[in-house]
Amino acid sequence: MPARPYQDVAAQAALLQESAEELYENAPVAYLSTLPDGTIVRVNETFLRWTGHARDDLVGRKRFHDLLPPGTRIYYETHYAPLLQIQGSVREIAAELLRADGTRLPVLLNSTLVRDEDGAPQIVRTTAFDASERRSYERELLRARTDAESRARAALALTHIDDGVLLVDEQERIQLLNPAAEAIADVEASRALGRRPAEAIAWWDAIAARIPVGPAAARPAPEVVAVSRSGREQWLSIVGIEAAGSVVYTLRDVTAEHRLEQMRADVVTVVSHELRTPLTGAYGAAATLLDRGDELRDDQRRQLLEMVFAQTARLTEIVDQILLASRLDTGNEVLRHDRFDATTIFELVLEAAPPDERPRLVVEAQAGGSVRADRDRLRQVVRNLVDNALKYSDGEVRIGLERRDTGVRYTVSDDGPGIPASEREQIFEKFYRLDPEQHGGTGGTGLGLYIARELVTRMNGRIGLLPRERGTTFFVDLPS
Ligand code: ADP
Repeated sequence: MPARPYQDVAAQAALLQESAEELYENAPVAYLSTLPDGTIVRVNETFLRWTGHARDDLVGRKRFHDLLPPGTRIYYETHYAPLLQIQGSVREIAAELLRADGTRLPVLLNSTLVRDEDGAPQIVRTTAFDASERRSYERELLRARTDAESRARAALALTHIDDGVLLVDEQERIQLLNPAAEAIADVEASRALGRRPAEAIAWWDAIAARIPVGPAAARPAPEVVAVSRSGREQWLSIVGIEAAGSVVYTLRDVTAEHRLEQMRADVVTVVSHELRTPLTGAYGAAATLLDRGDELRDDQRRQLLEMVFAQTARLTEIVDQILLASRLDTGNEVLRHDRFDATTIFELVLEAAPPDERPRLVVEAQAGGSVRADRDRLRQVVRNLVDNALKYSDGEVRIGLERRDTGVRYTVSDDGPGIPASEREQIFEKFYRLDPEQHGGTGGTGLGLYIARELVTRMNGRIGLLPRERGTTFFVDLPS
């Protein structure tokens, strides 16, 4: 498009009756001129329209600071006016003007001080921009920032708490999943978001019906449920709170607490059952001896005394096991690492076997060699395996020794009922016992194998079961 000649524009301005006066009066800014003492000498139409004042009430009658609310007035007198004196101008100061009806108009003020030839202040020219829109914009900005900050803080808290948090919306889609929930539910947020909980979380369906869900006011109590996570049992405390159409689920992994609780229950069972049996036996035998000892034959008395002896020995054994397990748990059991002839263990084990069981024991040592271990503790481990084999089977119990690459392997085998493959790891857990009915109600604490594994591990060895069609073979590998 060709440039318009200047005359054209001027002619058009004339056509629109644009004039300097018109521009001054109706400019989109308010103009105000005051004498150095603040007396208002001139204001434009815009100023009057914005503030609702009448020209006659202002000009020659009011001073600029009469139009300022107290806060702005103090600022005006302590900063604005002195700055104007010193600098000759003040720019972009946020202030408020009092309207005729008493309301306030937020403005941005700019002032220029005009001096005469001698430098004496003559007049102050002030322009005021309406800042109400800018203010609300700024307020909006501030609110958005505060919102964003509090959201960021909430997100930070959600990221770092141990409890899993899962937000499911009205459409049953996962909208939020914090890192703890990712770990507990074994799913990455990127794969879970937007999907239904049952699609994203492997175990959700199995427990969904049991999750208590209700409004916060109803304070639904969390339910403790067992779920399977990568093949392992995990206990979760879970509850859903309804809020604004969504449900916020809180998930807490209480597996450790549950184990502890279980262990406490097991201790009670062991103490009440396993200690009770020998106690009752010893008590009954001692009471009979006291009451009717005189009437009994020598062999009967001896039988009763042997019973007291055997039962108290069993009691000591159980108490020792409990104490040793607790020392192992707290790391207070110190082991030796001596090197000695591996076969010496057999003599010690055979010596300790009950005389009537000894014929069942067969030593099948294929090799000698040295072993590095704590002799007493190693004897205790092998003895425990032998005792179990004698206890849980009827036939022969074979004790073996063979040399391995970097050490030796002891084995203890029996032809008893065996241990199901599914239980091969669990039998080493504290207090774990296979169904006693399976062993004809044979007593035990379930601590023996736990202690054996702890001791062998501390001697830098390994204990486990060898796969067998029938019967059981335990092995203990130790370094030479
Ligand atoms: P306890 O013998 O006191 O019950 P252990 O920790 O020594 O405790 O053994 C744990 C469980 O492992 C036993 O209760 C038993 O069910 C099973 N077990 C151990 N050894 C054998 C074995 N030789 N044959 C069959 N089951 C066994």
